[in-house]
Amino acid sequence: MRTGEAVKQPQAQTKEALAQALVARLGEDVVLLGDQVAPYCRDWHGDVQSDAVAVLRPRTTQSVSDCVRAAAELGLGVVPQGGNTGLVLGGVPDTPATQVVVSLERMNRVRSLDADDFSAVVEAGIVLEEFKNKVAQAGLYFPLSLGAQGSCRLGGNVATNAGGVNVLRYGMTRELVLGLEVVLPDGRIFEGLSRLRKDNRGIDLKQLFIGAEGTLGIITAVSVKLMPAPEKTATALLALSSLEDVIALYRHARRQCCDLMSAFEFMPPEAFVLAAEALPDLPLPLDGSHPAYALVEISGSGLVDIDALMAAFLEEGFENGMVLDGVVAQSQAQARNLWLIREGMNEGQAKRGKHLRTDVSVALSALPAFVAEAEAAVMAALPNALCVSYGHVGDGNVHLNVLPDPAADGPQTDADIYTAKGAINAVLDRFDGSISAEHGIGRLKRTDFEARLPDVRRDMLLALKDALDPASTMNPGCQLDLLRNAAG
Ligand SMILES: Cc1cc2nc3c(=O)[nH]c(=O)nc-3n(C[C@H](O)[C@H](O)[C@H](O)COP(=O)(O)OP(=O)(O)OC[C@H]3O[C@@H](n4cnc5c(N)ncnc54)[C@H](O)[C@@H]3O)c2cc1C
Repeated sequence: MRTGEAVKQPQAQTKEALAQALVARLGEDVVLLGDQVAPYCRDWHGDVQSDAVAVLRPRTTQSVSDCVRAAAELGLGVVPQGGNTGLVLGGVPDTPATQVVVSLERMNRVRSLDADDFSAVVEAGIVLEEFKNKVAQAGLYFPLSLGAQGSCRLGGNVATNAGGVNVLRYGMTRELVLGLEVVLPDGRIFEGLSRLRKDNRGIDLKQLFIGAEGTLGIITAVSVKLMPAPEKTATALLALSSLEDVIALYRHARRQCCDLMSAFEFMPPEAFVLAAEALPDLPLPLDGSHPAYALVEISGSGLVDIDALMAAFLEEGFENGMVLDGVVAQSQAQARNLWLIREGMNEGQAKRGKHLRTDVSVALSALPAFVAEAEAAVMAALPNALCVSYGHVGDGNVHLNVLPDPAADGPQTDADIYTAKGAINAVLDRFDGSISAEHGIGRLKRTDFEARLPDVRRDMLLALKDALDPASTMNPGCQLDLLRNAAG
């Protein structure tokens, strides 16, 4: 299997000369240089600061195509970027002398919003939250919801096939996409902005770009499904005695809540301490004295009585002894505060410094055993570390994060993170799990991904890359280093 030649190396041109060549081809309005480049080359947590020849900020699909062609002519790799909230370094350049960032941030128009069709066509650079708000103004709902929604952009969500808290009801981003417009690595435009719900005319090519993390093209616009806005939402924070009980309650909720459950998140007791460290003024209606917590949301519109459904579900939960304590939000503000505990625990971990963040999945029924075994393996290797396991358990997805010994110095922290990752992945492999449930591979998980790739799957990925991007211009080094370096 051949994968085409690696990115054509710039012919002994300095970074400055390459940057000026880009300005000459694309104009000053499109090209950012000098100090303005740094913010686009830093990852969300600030763990990595890289650099690039330039940042290109096109305003139109044609301009994206011009950028891609110019980069290819100069032998530069193209790193597409949305909101740069990705957690696996997919949008952060790793070869500063030969890569440009193409930011979609100036392509943020809603091209059309059709309430009768329950669909919209929108440019890829729109911030997810802004899009959700615009849709809400039309009395509709776009269900993709994640902690980064104030910064991430729709094209990035599609490129990573983002998940979030509503997957158990509405599916991953892939299930919300009706069509795509994509600039291909050779600058041609794939025009696939269909709004059809059913279309079986051969292989569905848009799927190639969903989850590809920008390795096959730059998504410039997306047509999406919209839903009726949920008019009523009930949110509850519940205390339970174990992760096993959390899963049992989830199964019960799936059967009892008429498919109206829209979120079911698991949190450990440490969530309360971490959230308080990040958000000291946040009211905490429960105190973290129980072994496990679930944040449950039921929502709907029309004739369904959501409050009665939640009340009946909880009554059963208390009666059968699964739910030990709980609080139901009495207002939108209270519901928001419950969600802030979940979001604050993320920020709290970031505040404690560099740590291991994982995003793994196993079969739902295996989740409690996996978490117990993986945490035990980490603690055996690193007795002074803290394991924090939480996440979208309804999807079998858990973030098993490890905060190393706070007394460790920088190099020791890095070594501990490496040890913890190895311990968790060894257990994960035994459970046939995924090292990336939703964040993707990027550059951070590339080695672990490649080490687990079966030959047939690897050959198919290389053949696809070779067919669409033979010079490996598009996001070189993301997902597979093989795509950049392999030949023959
Ligand atoms: C606090 C927080 C919470 C999060 N929660 C979740 C969660 O619940 N679920 C989840 O799935 N993720 C989550 N994430 C990860 C992240 O927000 C998602 O991966 C998101 O979809 C990335 O979107 P972005 O616009 O920031 O993309 P970027 O970070 O800019 O890019 C991500 C990848 O997509 C590529 N890319 C970006 N735009 C395009 C485009 N237009 N065309 C082609 N390729 C492109 C980039 O090259 C890169 O490989 C979270 C992140 C944070 C910081």
